[in-house]
Amino acid sequence: MISLTIDGKKATVKKGTTILEAAKSIGIKIPTLCYDPRIVPHGTCRMCVVELEGSNKLATSCSTPAADGMVVFTETKKTTEARRTVLDLLLSNHPLDCLTCEKAGDCELQDLCYKYDVKESSFQGEKLTAEIDRTNQFYERDPNKCILCGKCVYVCAQLQCTNAIGFSQRGFRTHIAIPFEQDLDASLCVSCGNCVSACPTGALIPKRKEKFRYWETDTTRTTCSYCGVGCQMDLLTKDNKVVEIKPAMGTPNEGLLCVKGKFAYNFVNHDSRLKSPLLKKDGKFEEISWDEAYDIIVEKINDVKKNYGPDAIAGLSSARCTNEENYLMQKLMRAVIGTNNIDHCARL
Ligand code: SF4
Ligand code: SF4
Ligand code: SF4
Repeated sequence: MISLTIDGKKATVKKGTTILEAAKSIGIKIPTLCYDPRIVPHGTCRMCVVELEGSNKLATSCSTPAADGMVVFTETKKTTEARRTVLDLLLSNHPLDCLTCEKAGDCELQDLCYKYDVKESSFQGEKLTAEIDRTNQFYERDPNKCILCGKCVYVCAQLQCTNAIGFSQRGFRTHIAIPFEQDLDASLCVSCGNCVSACPTGALIPKRKEKFRYWETDTTRTTCSYCGVGCQMDLLTKDNKVVEIKPAMGTPNEGLLCVKGKFAYNFVNHDSRLKSPLLKKDGKFEEISWDEAYDIIVEKINDVKKNYGPDAIAGLSSARCTNEENYLMQKLMRAVIGTNNIDHCARL
């Protein structure tokens, strides 16, 4: 273990820990745009620069290892000036479209400009005028709002392991594109949306059915209903409608989802979704209460069990349920009803 001092507070961390992680371990947040704890640090954005005692150079805290006895300052006149210059440069070819941008309220660039009081760029020059790419079924890409942080490229390569996108061209013309060796008509992209979830700006945005602002939404942590992995996700809802899904950090999915988990949630909002049990009376389905439904189920199961034995009953569970719900279902069949006839819709 090594010990260092950050903003006057002592941090004791394992050898090899970066300054940024050491600061995080004692509750000090260093601003970043390109950092993602899940990918190899690449020090692209230079927002995380810190001052080190005894050095007149600024160090990128995301890629500089902490050292024993190091003394670090994370918010000084020099770091503030450096961060303001980075933001100033980023805004020099940014549309500043916050009033109508879908990302407003959840944009890391907007938040940092607010924190460091950067309203506009002091540089004048060429602006990007790229067309918005709407070819993907689930998300759209606005290259004009891209700050070239590289998160999408590295998340796709290192976490999703698809390598569908990369940097193209150099200098002012640098942009994110399908790598030149790939066939343009046969993109490797599987539309998982993990790049969209990682993007700090409005450059990658899910296609939306509803108009909403992030500050109008409520967030509910839940488990994805599509398979047994049990990915954790946050449902963003406005007026009781799901409007977006964000992957949760932590086990088992560590901020990743597949195309279904990320984008296929509109069945939840669908008008024809059943919300209460139906009972067929005189050939027509009628809504009944859950209490009535349970009474009927218990009565019928007891009748069958009494007349034909527990093995005349079978339980069919669902891949749409969580592992815990499926466990309870088999427990109900085995321990309460007394049969091993339990299966799952995947083997129908
Ligand atoms: S990406 Fe962020 S900073 Fe840029 S216009 Fe949208 S909200 Fe504003
Ligand atoms: S949607 Fe998934 S596969 Fe496609 S570019 Fe983004 S991370 Fe890669
Ligand atoms: S699209 Fe988003 S994640 Fe990718 S480089 Fe641009 S700003 Fe970064």
